[in-house]
Amino acid sequence: MPDRLLAAEPAVRLGCFLGVLALVALWEALAPRRAQAIGRLTRWPNNLGVVVVDTLVLRLLFPTAAVGLALAGEARGWGLLNDVALPPALKVLAAVVALDLVIYLQHVLFHAVPALWRLHRMHHADLEFDVTTGVRFHPLEIALSMGIKLVVIAALGAPAVGVLLFEVLLNATSMFSHGNVHLPEGLDRALRWVLVTPEMHRVHHSVVPRETNSNFGFNLSVWDRLFGTYRPQPAAGHEAMTIGIGEFRDPAELRLDRMLLQPLRGDAGRYPLGRQEGGP
Ligand SMILES: [Zn+2]
Ligand SMILES: [Zn+2]
Repeated sequence: MPDRLLAAEPAVRLGCFLGVLALVALWEALAPRRAQAIGRLTRWPNNLGVVVVDTLVLRLLFPTAAVGLALAGEARGWGLLNDVALPPALKVLAAVVALDLVIYLQHVLFHAVPALWRLHRMHHADLEFDVTTGVRFHPLEIALSMGIKLVVIAALGAPAVGVLLFEVLLNATSMFSHGNVHLPEGLDRALRWVLVTPEMHRVHHSVVPRETNSNFGFNLSVWDRLFGTYRPQPAAGHEAMTIGIGEFRDPAELRLDRMLLQPLRGDAGRYPLGRQEGGP
């Protein structure tokens, strides 16, 4: 069973990625939320190119990655959850919720620390907000994030099935929450009691620093409400708001090679927490 889970992982993840990408892209084509000024042909090959780079970097640095470590932990009894007697389903649920909290806290950290913001701001430098924004993360951020996840998985004793479920969920919900899709207002209001919706996460891609520094959640919306980082709507409204950050506003910056070098260029800017109001 462990070997089979590890062997099935790439196919499960690729299948879910392509399936959700196609679904959200179709939804965007049929019922878009905002008119886009920059065509898909300019952005999509580059944003999807980042996914290829990220996947290669991860496979190179962490060949068996998160699921492999979780399997080793289960076999050797590492971590909290391997030490307590709980129904397997409950352990899976606990692992998914705990990992979601860690990813929330990590996201806040990447906004707060100037050097980490340099890596994460590539995600925010996209000048439009759609399904491909949801997979546009700098390979160094992806590698750091995997390092943090591995520590948490080992300490928590997260079951391998829970880890695979979380990885697939995170990828799928990230594409959904970045969708340029029209969602009826009532449905959005109901959904966001539990999940991060596109209307909620779009606020996080506003050019206005106090809006950028809100709504950090990826899956569950509860963390933002609990920790006081929840902001319901953008001040300018969803249609009029400006997407992106103050830097890298030339559409030439949407090219893959430019994106990858963005962490090294310019200063950290006024976005990291605590620098927004009148800082240096
Ligand atoms: Zn962010
Ligand atoms: Zn985002």
